[in-house]
Amino acid sequence: MLTATCHCGTIKVEVPRAPESVTDCNCSICRRYGVRWAYYKDAEVTLIAATDATDNYVWGDKSLKFIRCKQCGCVMQWKSLTVGADTNTGVNARNFEQSVMANVPVRLLDGADT
Ligand SMILES: [Zn+2]
Repeated sequence: MLTATCHCGTIKVEVPRAPESVTDCNCSICRRYGVRWAYYKDAEVTLIAATDATDNYVWGDKSLKFIRCKQCGCVMQWKSLTVGADTNTGVNARNFEQSVMANVPVRLLDGADT
């Protein structure tokens, strides 16, 4: 198991394993956040936070919500707002320990165009 932690330590996201790769996307939101996403099944990931400790951002067609720490502002995770048994989620791999991520390849995704 591996834990992503925000800067102030209020929010934790537990995942079952290190990702095989992370995604650096240039879409309108990801390039602003400066995040790298590690993808998992929603059921594999546990967000540990008090209910009032997070803020969400949802826009446009409201297909995703981005979850961040209300105190330090770190972006932690996106979740799909469309419910399905096989739903994916993205965890911000920037919040894992750097040593864990040192040898994980970064995939560049042209999300702005595709
Ligand atoms: Zn925080």
